[in-house]
Amino acid sequence: TWEYAPAPESAAIANLKPSYRMFVDGEFVEGAGEPLKSVNPATEEVLAEVSTASAADVDRAVKAARRAHDKTWGRMPGAERAKYIYRIARMVAERARELAVLESLDNGKPIKEARDTDVPTAAAHFFYHAGWADKLDYAGLGPDPRPLGVAGQVIPWNFPLLMASWKIAPALACGNTVVLKPAETTPLTALVLAEIIQQAELPPGVVNIIPGAGDVGAELVNHPGVNKVAFTGSTEVGKVIQSALAGTGKKLTLELGGKAANIVFDDAPLDQAVEGIVNGIFFNQGHVCCAGSRLLLQESIAEEFLAKLHARVSTLRVGDPLDKNTDVGAINSRDQLTKIQDLVASGEQEGAERWSSPCPLPDKGFYFAPTVFANVTQSMRIAREEIFGPVLSVLTFRTPAEALAKANNTPYGLSAGVWTEKGSRILWMADRLRAGVVWANTFNRFDPTAPFGGYQESGFGREGGRAGLEAYLDV
Ligand code: NAD
Repeated sequence: TWEYAPAPESAAIANLKPSYRMFVDGEFVEGAGEPLKSVNPATEEVLAEVSTASAADVDRAVKAARRAHDKTWGRMPGAERAKYIYRIARMVAERARELAVLESLDNGKPIKEARDTDVPTAAAHFFYHAGWADKLDYAGLGPDPRPLGVAGQVIPWNFPLLMASWKIAPALACGNTVVLKPAETTPLTALVLAEIIQQAELPPGVVNIIPGAGDVGAELVNHPGVNKVAFTGSTEVGKVIQSALAGTGKKLTLELGGKAANIVFDDAPLDQAVEGIVNGIFFNQGHVCCAGSRLLLQESIAEEFLAKLHARVSTLRVGDPLDKNTDVGAINSRDQLTKIQDLVASGEQEGAERWSSPCPLPDKGFYFAPTVFANVTQSMRIAREEIFGPVLSVLTFRTPAEALAKANNTPYGLSAGVWTEKGSRILWMADRLRAGVVWANTFNRFDPTAPFGGYQESGFGREGGRAGLEAYLDV
């Protein structure tokens, strides 16, 4: 037994229901899998019970997507598809408040971030891709671009609605149909998106949303009826999927982990850089694949910069995600909190100097104080492994070449940041950093017109921009 524990006002705004069903072939149906409980990480209370897919449900969803592809969506003129996708975009924007509160409840992220980033960027992805649907023939992608068929998509819990939008919008624009599995700890906004898709009257089966754990994801990506797999999640699982798909002929894109370097040179505007470093690692509690989790400071400014950084981080408000003044919300799950604690303990054991913000933490819920490690060396785990939490590892360098070597000393390659007044240095670094995106004097800027994706073990394929369409088309 479990108790449904609504936080009265927010539950009403979020239109929170005690139970959610999966969305298959245009209908909300009970899955035959073991139901999961979605927990509010800020209170540890159960938000809702969610039905999950069995292997037979996955099969049903893939077959529905196949029928929809062959009979309706894959044959529809692009201009017609565009109308549906614009409708989804408008409905996401209209329900922004509800979606933002629900996302904050389910994920633990600060409401101001859900409100200002997640939901508007999700709507922007649908608007942007709707605009492509009737222009694919003229986009220089090659002659006679065609959809691949059924896309099996698996997403993580850090940006639940936004990741669903990154996946669904380009697939639909290109004429593919979709079976998407949200993460087990954050299925709710994807199911509201399903409601929007139903109300937008997309033909049944064009989009199917099937909650469940990793086994459901595995069932989906390995289903022979799936033509294209798009996965966002850990590098570990990405590798499992890539081996499993070898030789199947399925197209694959992987958006995996990262360990980005944020590099501050001595000529950078330091106060602006402090803001950028704070945003780079503490945005979304550091649950960001492209988080600037390694700070590389030029030696001559290291001491001054660290003092400024501690002062600024001490002002961050950690607590109730629904409070509009909260800067850092709850860690998404107990498992993730344990992972962060373990890595932080390893940093202390390996001799790094730990500083944590003195901010008070709520008694209940999964919280972790923003933490900065100084005197980090490249061999320490906290310099090499993705922590995926509000923890920054600080290293120093003397020359641009040393900064570059340290930044590139990682198996990942998703993003990097460069802070300097010198334009020529920005270009020199950007040319040589092995990262899918290099931000200069800013960080964590996302736009649907810009392709996003990794090098090396951060994955391959791009999402967003014209390049993102290539993952969903054959020519
Ligand atoms: P995860 O790999 O554990 O899970 C991601 C998704 O995969 C979940 O839906 C999960 O249920 C599913 N899954 C688990 N095992 C599976 C299997 N064997 N086959 C198919 N699906 C399976 O990752 P997570 O902890 O949920 O997310 C955090 C990770 O995601 C971090 O490493 C982060 O860097 C990465 N991430 C990357 C990007 C990007 O764009 N590169 C964006 C967000 C998150």
